[in-house]
Amino acid sequence: MPVACRAGCGKNAVLKRPKTGDVLCKECFYWAFETEIHYTITKGELFNRGDAVAIAASGGKDSTVLAHVMKTLNQQYDYGLNLMLLSIDEGITGYRDDSLETVKQNRDDYEMSLKILSYKDLYGWTMDEIVAQIGRKNNCTFCGVFRRQALDRGAAMLGVKCIATGHNADDIAETVLMNVLRGDIARLKRCTAISTGSEGTIPRVKPLKYTYEKEIVMYAHYKKLVYFSTECVFAPNAYRGHARALLKDMEKIRPTCIMDIIYSGETMAVKEEVSLPSQRICVRCKFVSSQEVCKACVLLEGLNKGLPRLGIGKSSKAKKMLEEYNAKQPGSELDKAIIDLNDESVNTKSKGRCKSKVKNKENCGNCSGKCAKETNGMESNSKINSLLEQYGLENTQNVLVNGHDEQIPDEDDGCSGSCGKLGSMQIGF
Ligand code: SF4
Ligand code: ZN
Repeated sequence: MPVACRAGCGKNAVLKRPKTGDVLCKECFYWAFETEIHYTITKGELFNRGDAVAIAASGGKDSTVLAHVMKTLNQQYDYGLNLMLLSIDEGITGYRDDSLETVKQNRDDYEMSLKILSYKDLYGWTMDEIVAQIGRKNNCTFCGVFRRQALDRGAAMLGVKCIATGHNADDIAETVLMNVLRGDIARLKRCTAISTGSEGTIPRVKPLKYTYEKEIVMYAHYKKLVYFSTECVFAPNAYRGHARALLKDMEKIRPTCIMDIIYSGETMAVKEEVSLPSQRICVRCKFVSSQEVCKACVLLEGLNKGLPRLGIGKSSKAKKMLEEYNAKQPGSELDKAIIDLNDESVNTKSKGRCKSKVKNKENCGNCSGKCAKETNGMESNSKINSLLEQYGLENTQNVLVNGHDEQIPDEDDGCSGSCGKLGSMQIGF
């Protein structure tokens, strides 16, 4: 039996809003969805009349819906904004090449200009090449750091006032959960901020901050918007995946938990002695950085010097490493060690027994305390460890410095690698 639209328009309802549980017809859903975003924009004072605004466009559901809604609201409420699309081509075959075709379709559909910047042009490396060099463990660290700077560079080229990103309520709630789970309370304020950016940088704003992912998918579905829904071929993102799974489970029981978690993140008090790194300008590339040399430059230097692992870790010590490396060029011990390492890295998969005679669990110096166990390439690791030590870099997987894990990209850099497929959503009823 048909159910009447809850908004009282007289039509039959065709959907149940995941956020509120209201049963609505399509038109009343569109109105509610768009009006909430309009309210978020005006309450957060995200834009000023006459602003040029770059929409970070990936071709995915979030940025596609963002572009569509921004165009609609700009006309409907006469914001007076000059909207344009800005895309980053990471160089991921089978993923970004296809999704960029969707962005080009968005450009034509929404009649906005489109600027595409590629990692290859900016850094000389595609993600395909980086992954071939570093493997699939830290790929998102490189990708996230490079993307953040690439967006800054693109925005500077376009001369825009701000960058609008498609981060939705689920993304932000996931990030809050992740920061809580890893004890990084200092980031809570920033990850829940609707507008981020310090002096001298181009701010990023999140008009979809309070918009549920499920509603974004529903809106795209009913509006028949064209978007790309394949996951990145390099997407591991295990930690975010767990946070996402936890959130989805909780959402099934209590849909308001997404808003509740964002609210908790917004209002959680941060102790004064927990400070975020201050922003400055990278001495090399002149873009914003929390260190003298920015993370993008450090990672790039590591790639170009053939030892990318040295770019992973504490950036405060990476500068020292770079200076010492340069001082010892050419024909330095490090040079030879890099050649050795590259040779040995080919064999790191081969399992063997530690050659040390030490039988107890004391560190023999070759195997990080794993004597008499299978080494699984430990000899190579020990050489890396001694190099890292020599160059003042801890061999760390994740170093917590004042509560900030420097390997984990900022939430704005983060790519969920997600696809938002419709099949998993309960839309009609
Ligand atoms: Fe880059 Fe995202 Fe793919 Fe990771 S999942 S490699 S951050 S596009
Ligand atoms: Zn730099």
